[in-house]
This record gives sequence, structure tokens and C-alpha cells, in this order.
Amino acid sequence: MGQPVSFRCVGCGREYEPWSIDYHCPHCGPLSGPLEVVYDLRGLASRLTPSSFAETRRPSLWRYEELLPVGIEHSVPLRAGWTPLYARPELAAELGLAALWIKDDSLNPTASYKDRATAVVIAAARHLGRAALTCASTGNTASSVAGFCAAAGMPAYIFVPEKTPRPKIAQLLAFGATVFAVEGDYSRAQRLCEEARDRFGWYDRSDGVSPINAEGKKTGAYEIWEQLDGKVPDYVLVSVGDGSVISGICKGFLELRELGLAEDVPRVYGVQAEGAAAVAHAFARKKRGEEILPAEEPAETLADSICVGNPKDVVKAVTYVDRTGGGFVTVSDGEIIGAVGELARKAGVFAEPAAAATYAGLIALLTTGEIPEGSRAALVITGSGLKNPEGALRAVGEPLKVPPDIAAVERIILPMGYED
Ligand SMILES: [Zn+2]
Repeated sequence: MGQPVSFRCVGCGREYEPWSIDYHCPHCGPLSGPLEVVYDLRGLASRLTPSSFAETRRPSLWRYEELLPVGIEHSVPLRAGWTPLYARPELAAELGLAALWIKDDSLNPTASYKDRATAVVIAAARHLGRAALTCASTGNTASSVAGFCAAAGMPAYIFVPEKTPRPKIAQLLAFGATVFAVEGDYSRAQRLCEEARDRFGWYDRSDGVSPINAEGKKTGAYEIWEQLDGKVPDYVLVSVGDGSVISGICKGFLELRELGLAEDVPRVYGVQAEGAAAVAHAFARKKRGEEILPAEEPAETLADSICVGNPKDVVKAVTYVDRTGGGFVTVSDGEIIGAVGELARKAGVFAEPAAAATYAGLIALLTTGEIPEGSRAALVITGSGLKNPEGALRAVGEPLKVPPDIAAVERIILPMGYED
């Protein structure tokens, strides 16, 4: 594994002994977000080659064990990562792009990108000898924690906002987690989770809390690079709620360049819903030379996985995205719903609204010219459409009702140009 040299604060730059602090900088407090894990990248560069990861033959994110803070011996046998990267040349041509790739992370064990973080965080909890995991989540992190804890035989204590879609709650209860449906919004659930973790000593896998989250989440960037034979796209689009997935993905690409494994870093763009755009607004403030914090604002969007008003990883997200030369874009709920249907029909990937928002963001950035024609772009699909089928139903209309009679099918199909 890649022995961390320190845990560093993104806000003030103070460095701490690895593992000596669980979550945030004691000097800056939780507003600056989780500490970042720092490695001796120069030392690692001398022993890594582009084929080091393939040589492990591991079809999971543990192929990157050398760049993770805990060893595979602490891992839970549930495969996260090494998800497919699909090329979609016809759709790319239709959009005026030179290439379009879709990183389909709906194929993780609990059907979302969040499994990457949980796989590494639960290994860290076992390394630290913690007895249980906890989290506050709008849904995907919660199912991920519940699933991995079930596989590990570890208790999971989960705090969800009461409005969480039923299919997501079903997954948690099926995995045997203890679920608290908290009255009020996501931030209420977050606060109660923090009080409980401090009271009972559980390790907190909430997004934007543990420094280890980003370590799991960065592996998506490594995979895109490896699956493109050591190249990176010009643009990578990621939907943003808390800011922790995009922070991880940026960190991964930045590390690859520092390791000398990639020549370039793609411009990473965060996509937010217009009604829940706290991180995009913080980025705009940074670009105007103003303070990033405080970032809390009201949040309302049907894309429940990115409906976050109090983003915890905002400092890192804004800082890292800027370092890649990328930016942020916001899209309406109508555009997001349209994107669910269009991505499914044209790319064969059924994404939840939050994940399909990346496609809506791509269209918006192509329209303004911020992504020029002829670019090579990748969308990170962070969750399955089956997570929120009600969102999809608003995009796709109704089935054709027919009696059980072939004549009825003929009346519909023959006018479409089929011969008798
Ligand atoms: Zn600090």
C-alpha cells in the first residue's frame, strides 16, 4: 500500500501524523472539510509503471492498492470499482465531439459511485479497529454502507432524511442496517449522525467527513486513465452534491500527473441542479477573489442524490476543480429529466437523475462553447436509474396498452414501415 506521509488541511495547510485525527483540521474546524491524505508521490513514482496496476490482475479498485492508504488485507470481499468505460462514437458525432466516453459506475455492488469510498473507508475502519460504521446520507452512501457492512459482518447505523425515496430505504433495511429516518432535511440528519458518532465511537463514512473517502473516490480517475491506455479525456463531467466525488476524481487525475503516469489533467466540470448549486456558487465566488465559505444555502431539486444545501467538501471541490482548469455548470430539473431519457435511449445507460445531470451539463457547455466542438469528453455516471424510477417515469411516458391479440400489435407496428 501507499504509506501516507501526512493528513493535511486544505484550508490552512497544517499537516498531521497519518491516522492521528479522524476527520477535519482541529484548527479550522469542519467547515474546511476533511483532511487530505498526502503520499510521497516521488517515492511511489520510482516504483510504479503504467502496467503496475494491470499486473495485479485485480478487477476492482484494489488494483491501485499502491496508491491507497490501507492494504487489501483489510478489505471486504465485495467488488467495487473497475467498472466499464464505454465509447459512444455515434452520439459523440451527433454532439460534435471527437469522442465521448461513459464511465458506468452504476455497476458497483450497490449501484453507485459511493461504493468506491465505502470499500476503502471500511478497510480503514478495520485497520483502526472500529466496531461500526455510521453515515448521514440522501441515499446512495447509505446503501453502500449498509451493503459493505453486511458483507463485513459489521453493524451499520444510518441517518437518512425522511423524504428519501422508498427503494433506497428498502436496500438499507434489506442489508440489515439500523436506519433512523430523521425529520427535516439532509443537514438535520448530518448533525444527528455527528452527535451519535461522537457519543458511540462509530467511524463516520458520511460524504465530506473522513479523509479516506477521497482515496476511494479518486480511483475512478485512475480507471479512466488506464482504460484509455494511459491517456486522459479533454473534459470530465461529474455531478456534484457534497463535492466529495468530484474532489476525489480531481485528486486522482492530479496524482497521475504528479506520478509521471499521465501527461495531462482533464478539465473537470462539476454539474449541479439550479435549485441546489451551493458548490457552483462557491466556485464563482472564488473566481471573483471572494471567500469560498460559508456555502450553506437552500436546496431543492428532484435529483435527490445531489440535493445538498450544506456541502461539506466544498473547499476541496472548488480548489481541486480550479487546479484542473475546469469549472461548474448548473442545469434545470427539466433538463435533468430530459437527460435521463436521452442518455438511456442514445447511450444504453440508465442513470438516476443526479447522474444523468452530467449529460445535461455537457449539452449546456457545448451550447455556450465552453466545451469546444471536436473535444474528447467523459461523463461519470454515479448512480443507477433503478435507484429513482419515479424520476425516470417523468421522462419516458407510458407503455402502449393492447389486448392480448396480434392484430392490435400489427396496427401499431405495420405503420412504422414493416412489411407483411
Ligand atoms: Zn486547517
